[in-house]
Amino acid sequence: MADVTETQLVVLGAGPGGYAAAFLAADRGMKVTLIDARERPGGTCLHVGCIPSKACLHAAKLITDVRDAAHIGLKYGAPTIDVNGVRGHWQKVVETLTGNLSRLSKARKIDYVVGQGKFVDDRTIEVEGRGRYHFENCIVATGSVPARPANLNLASPRVVDSTGALKLEDIPPRLLVVGGGYIGLEMGYVYAALGSKVTVVELTDGLLPGCDRDLVLPLHKRLEKMFDKIHLKTKVARLEETPKGIRATLEGEEVADKQPIFERVLVAVGRRPNSRDIGLDKAGVKIDDKGFIAVDEKRRTSVERIFAIGDVAGEPMLAHKATYEGKIVVEVLAGEPAVYDALAVPAVVFTDPEVAWCGLTETEAKRANREIKRVRFPWAGSGRAMTLDRTEGLTKLIVDPETDRVLGVGIVGAGAGEMIAEAMLAIEMGASARDLAMTMHAHPTLSETIMEAAESLYGMAVHQMPPKK
Ligand code: NAD
Repeated sequence: MADVTETQLVVLGAGPGGYAAAFLAADRGMKVTLIDARERPGGTCLHVGCIPSKACLHAAKLITDVRDAAHIGLKYGAPTIDVNGVRGHWQKVVETLTGNLSRLSKARKIDYVVGQGKFVDDRTIEVEGRGRYHFENCIVATGSVPARPANLNLASPRVVDSTGALKLEDIPPRLLVVGGGYIGLEMGYVYAALGSKVTVVELTDGLLPGCDRDLVLPLHKRLEKMFDKIHLKTKVARLEETPKGIRATLEGEEVADKQPIFERVLVAVGRRPNSRDIGLDKAGVKIDDKGFIAVDEKRRTSVERIFAIGDVAGEPMLAHKATYEGKIVVEVLAGEPAVYDALAVPAVVFTDPEVAWCGLTETEAKRANREIKRVRFPWAGSGRAMTLDRTEGLTKLIVDPETDRVLGVGIVGAGAGEMIAEAMLAIEMGASARDLAMTMHAHPTLSETIMEAAESLYGMAVHQMPPKK
């Protein structure tokens, strides 16, 4: 019989959802056991996801910024790229961040258990080699894993997922990116900047499906210049190993070369919830047909004492949503009347330009036949954007036609990911477009484009002609 440890709260998975929940629960005096297969907290996001990819994107942006500086009279030579140095940068960041989290976990007296945890029943989790943990409550925060459809599942060191791409083993002369979503575009951007000839193949008729087309356009235009090819409405039917590299069979009307060869292939066609192999059936926890754990607004599962947060508990699979849910569950456990009632979730694609949006999108409004008012401010009218030589951006507000309440915001442009915070605050505070228009914004900044978009709703935009009467 395995050793049994009595604990108040088991958190299974130490990513941005799990570690936040564990830390906050410990701060409220709960006895917490945090279980993860990795030696240190951080999950996919810190170890092999958001953080390392942003470090690589920083390197990539420096390369493209320096190249683009020629437009403003600054000519540099071609960079000498040391992939070990670029990889070393992100590894150091990850080492520091996860080390800090380990220290914070210890300082909070959390029992951090390294190993794969599995439910044995609805009160117990077993960690192989470590024993059993008997809990009063449990939070499942096991995240997600890359999806690999059978036709793309070639076992070859040349075919990688996002984790493999981050290893930056070398700069492949030709890289195929399957999937024009978040990961495909971010890592495609990195490799293109480093010098690979990148081909992106996307199944649907546009990059970043689901995102408003006017926001994707400036990014698409820039990527067209950086990438070798972007094939839309195209399927990768097969991948085969050949002595020269991986041969991809492409099915799409506009593709000329149907069987190109690549030194490396990145498969980035989405992620699936990590709900298999953790014994959820033994605990009686229900999952839906996509494998997400079914939860209510308190993030409670079908079993009263078990909660689920983050990627495993539903879309969108974003770290900040997981952290937010972790906070809610800890409040629920503390007996507070908390529910998940976020009015919006920000989404950011960290390419350059960045694309960021939150709340209602124009696409969603159209699909739901919902009446909205839409105002846009093109960055060509922004003095700050001109000084940065980045006028391709666009800021857009989606507003309730009766109350002028801000329902959604979309931004594409350099630094859009930072700007979306103001939009989030506006939505959460129930601000109207007039509130944004009447809030003084520092000049000259890109954030003025939010104010000017709002001003245009009232015919008050100084740098844009009012609509013709
Ligand atoms: P994604 O859902 O963003 O994009 C997958 C893309 O692949 C879609 O455009 C889809 O149409 C396409 N696709 C699917 N099957 C295909 C096929 N057979 N051939 C060609 N294209 C195909 O998924 P992802 O890029 O793998 O990222 C996974 C998740 O990770 C995202 O949902 C996101 O939540 C998260 N993520 C977020 C960030 C960020 O916040 N910046 C960055 C990376 C990943």
